[in-house]
Amino acid sequence: MIIQYYVGCSAEEREAVHRRLRDWGFRVQPNPGEGGGSPETQIQVDNVFGNVHDQHRQEIASYDCVKTVIPIEGVPQNLSLQRRGERHTVTIPSPSGAPVVIGGEEPLVVMAGVCAVDTKHTLASHQMAKRAGADVNRGGAFKPRTSPYDFQGLKEDGLKILCEVREAVGLPIVSEILDVRDVELFMKYDVDVLQTGTRNAQNFELLIEVGRTGKPVLYKRGFSNSVDESLKAANYVMEQGNENLIFCLRGVKGIGHSFRNQGDLDEITSLQHRIDRPVVYDVSHSTGKKSGVAGVGNMAAAGGVDGILMDVHAVPTEALVDGFQAIDDEAELARMIATWRKLHAIAREDAAAHQRHLHAAS
Ligand code: PEP
Ligand code: MN
Repeated sequence: MIIQYYVGCSAEEREAVHRRLRDWGFRVQPNPGEGGGSPETQIQVDNVFGNVHDQHRQEIASYDCVKTVIPIEGVPQNLSLQRRGERHTVTIPSPSGAPVVIGGEEPLVVMAGVCAVDTKHTLASHQMAKRAGADVNRGGAFKPRTSPYDFQGLKEDGLKILCEVREAVGLPIVSEILDVRDVELFMKYDVDVLQTGTRNAQNFELLIEVGRTGKPVLYKRGFSNSVDESLKAANYVMEQGNENLIFCLRGVKGIGHSFRNQGDLDEITSLQHRIDRPVVYDVSHSTGKKSGVAGVGNMAAAGGVDGILMDVHAVPTEALVDGFQAIDDEAELARMIATWRKLHAIAREDAAAHQRHLHAAS
């Protein structure tokens, strides 16, 4: 953080702030005063280095001599690329041997499956996704619905089906958890990746509890949250000592857009420079249209996203939720995924060339 003092702040007052900062173990780099004249009439500013949290900033801001406290960056240190040096991977255990690794320099990971688990079509849908090239199956057993009259998911029965299907298909599963009371259930069925949805983006208790499981967590950005707010909330997972956080963009509420949500594709690029965590883009819930999935997936892959999340369904007219946005044509799905992988490989080559260029120039 940067601290700016009121003009006229005395050396003793400033030293009291420095003592507090040193108590916390921070390094203080006072800037020479600016504005000419004596220290009493100069603008005095300190740079502070260390693991600075909001509560530190708040306490420092409460000193009478302090005019403003400016955070150096909005990224929590646990996720900060600058702090952590390089982009890190998350490993998702697989029932059929080799785990799926996402992030860092790894190839694109495609997570595809039904929006809501059903008894009739989940197996066929997940088999189709696998044949078309998906690495992970997604499926909601607990569904967060805007209206209480809408289908809420098969709940525990849905988790059972998901596990049977996992056994038959051989891909790891990602499923959304809505409530802290269900953590044990998700552990009982050994769900490979716990998804927290956009509506729970600031359900801090839930984020703490899923963090404590140590399982990979697919955290979805809140549809009305800034990226920085969502990064801070996602950091609750990592604060539990859980390094397996995957950050998922899925569009936000906006104005004048043609799709279900306002796309936030540009954040892929921004996050690649700011966080060390794998970034996934949900091409189905951002667009809400089958016709949007391929093109938006192309953009995400070409932007170097680490993973793509999507809805597929073997018989969308019978899907219990979101059938309208599910891809059902296997050949089309296979073609899409193949294109995404090519675009992703080009994006990675390009990023590596860019790095070499920066290195040579420095
Ligand atoms: C989902 O992935 O099934 C879902 C409900 O997504 P979101 O939380 O992004 O709306
Ligand atoms: Mn859905």
